[in-house]
Amino acid sequence: MLKLIFILYFVFSFGDAGQEPEGSMTNIIWEDQFTASEKEKLTIWLQRISSAVFETLGEYPFEVNLYLHRNENKNEPVPWAHTVRDDEEGVHFYVCADYSLGDFMNDWTAPHEISHLSIPYLGKKNLWFSEGYASYMQYRVMLQADVLTADEMTDRYISKLQNISPVYDSDERFLALSGQLRSQHNYPAVYWGGACLFMQADSMLKSERNMSLPEIIKQYQSRGRSTDDNLDDLIASLDEVSQSTIFSDLVNKFQNETAREAVLNTPVPEIIITTEKD
Ligand SMILES: [Zn+2]
Repeated sequence: MLKLIFILYFVFSFGDAGQEPEGSMTNIIWEDQFTASEKEKLTIWLQRISSAVFETLGEYPFEVNLYLHRNENKNEPVPWAHTVRDDEEGVHFYVCADYSLGDFMNDWTAPHEISHLSIPYLGKKNLWFSEGYASYMQYRVMLQADVLTADEMTDRYISKLQNISPVYDSDERFLALSGQLRSQHNYPAVYWGGACLFMQADSMLKSERNMSLPEIIKQYQSRGRSTDDNLDDLIASLDEVSQSTIFSDLVNKFQNETAREAVLNTPVPEIIITTEKD
């Protein structure tokens, strides 16, 4: 079958005109055949979500390749997606193009996957950390995209915390329990257990530094993202950007303490809504 690949470039720039002429470059690559109207819908979806990611987490210091594949599973708009993190930074999306633009916008997959790229690939052993990070950020991005209100986002975090609290109410070490949950394929519990680190980081940044986690990640794009390639590097950079030991302290806690100590009593951060386009 003839494989048609179209590459569409779109460039975003934010901030006051003239101050930030360089935006993240995002390439859409059509790996299967899509109709013109499907392409229009999927392009608008990915443009809106990419914009919201870059507004939330900063312009990435590399091009992002977004690959579109057809998937005939009719149960949801994006049944499957995964990142590519070796010679390039990108995401492969497997989509059911029958769904409406609104359905695609309400799906958390693209905010989650594109958020992953804002920090380096950290290896399978740190899956709890990288999936926790993307899970926490996906709703921040959906807030930025006006898909969720602040109250709806907070409700989602509260509900995720309620779901995992009984699982982590344990004297086992957090890392051991997270590994067991992973081997049992209880991925929601693995992801949202890890996300607790980022909720705690966001709350501590607010109270100790009057900053937010997305603000730190924005600065990180030019202060470590291009050179870090493991968890230790990343944590050292985030501590440096935040001028604190919040990140190393939290990672130490999650790596060494019990599941109960690490996860329970995680606060849902008070979200500061920024108005960057003013
Ligand atoms: Zn993920």
